[in-house]
Amino acid sequence: LPSELISAKPILDQINQAGFQAYFVGGCVRDIILNKAIHDVDIASSAYPEEIKKIFKKTVDTGIQHGTVMVLDHGEGYEITTFRTESTYTDFRRPDQVTFVRSLSKDLKRRDFTINAFALQADGQVIDYFDGLTDLDRQQIRAVGRAQERFTEDALRMMRALRFASQLDFTIEDQTFQALVNLGPNLEKIAVERIRVEFEKLLQGSSAGPALRLLLKAQLLPYLPGKTGRVTADHLNLVAGQLSQRQPSNEKVAWTIYLGQAGLSAPDLQDELRQWKLSRDVMQTVVALAPLLAQPKQISTWAIYEHNSQIETLVEALTIMGVENAVIQAVQTKYAALPIYSSKEIVLSGGDLIQQGLAQPGPALGQTLHQLEKAVALGQVENTKPAIIAWLRGNDNGNN
Ligand code: ATP
Ligand code: MG
Repeated sequence: LPSELISAKPILDQINQAGFQAYFVGGCVRDIILNKAIHDVDIASSAYPEEIKKIFKKTVDTGIQHGTVMVLDHGEGYEITTFRTESTYTDFRRPDQVTFVRSLSKDLKRRDFTINAFALQADGQVIDYFDGLTDLDRQQIRAVGRAQERFTEDALRMMRALRFASQLDFTIEDQTFQALVNLGPNLEKIAVERIRVEFEKLLQGSSAGPALRLLLKAQLLPYLPGKTGRVTADHLNLVAGQLSQRQPSNEKVAWTIYLGQAGLSAPDLQDELRQWKLSRDVMQTVVALAPLLAQPKQISTWAIYEHNSQIETLVEALTIMGVENAVIQAVQTKYAALPIYSSKEIVLSGGDLIQQGLAQPGPALGQTLHQLEKAVALGQVENTKPAIIAWLRGNDNGNN
């Protein structure tokens, strides 16, 4: 058993000793066979949730309605899910009913892809009912059973196929790909948030370029969230080329690359980001950086100051875009040379100015402060009291 699972083995042993089956399942088994880092350890068991709760002292009902109980053991939490089948998908996304079963093979059969349908026993033996090991060897994503049926049950699996292709550098097996081509319109029935999660992972995968080209080839672009036609195939090809060179290190960079250089007007960009239901933080970053990406050579010191909290995202995006080194270095140099990074660093506040008779309270004050901030940020006025006072006195902005 690999080291990552050694600490979880006693959990399987305890379930086994109570007379039930238990296995490691899902992504962790795939990643262990591939020698990749694992994120979470999923355990599946023939024991029903109530039975699991009798075996362990400390448990939390994290998803009891789908059969998941979390077992707490030496400070770690392990999710144990009862073997289950899913029946009749009338809305293309969620099973109408989850049924607990005692059979491992039925549980594995409901899983999306052969490489996600392994089970690993406590003794280290891999159970592979659907020839997933062959697919791992061939480096391909293949649906468990008939792809057409599986994607009709749950259209999100199409996005997952592309996501895994991107993360694992795999191709998509022919029939599975054909089902992707056939069932694209069903994507419109899936919650935007769920598509977004998979698409974000796709954009950050090591094979995002090829995966985006597969998405285009399968003609899925019109069915992604956002307004149809706004993001063009040409744009997607451009992004695919860029991502083939470098991987974004986080989702903010990914969205900046994907939508920030799509050539959209500010209102269209806002709307597109809203339709993807992105967080306010991501939206603000992409909206702020989009104009800068359009003309990297024209990025001003003021723009760098205004968006200085996004500097890392900006620099990484410019790098992925393949912008000349000298241009990127100029941005970094300007950033490093900024005298201040926030108006709070200015040695005299609005209150100070009023107190010292340098400004009057009222609407003009805001304007004066803004001009002062600009002058200090651009290095036109030193950030010292005498320099600022002299600048205010000699300034024709109506406050003296
Ligand atoms: P990751 O390493 O990114 O977490 P994962 O394979 O663990 O990848 P999850 O989304 O965490 O993916 O799902 C865990 C497992 O549950 C999958 O490996 C798969 O067996 C099953 N699964 C998840 N989503 C679906 C789905 N939509 N249809 C069928 N099976 C699914
Ligand atoms: Mg997982």
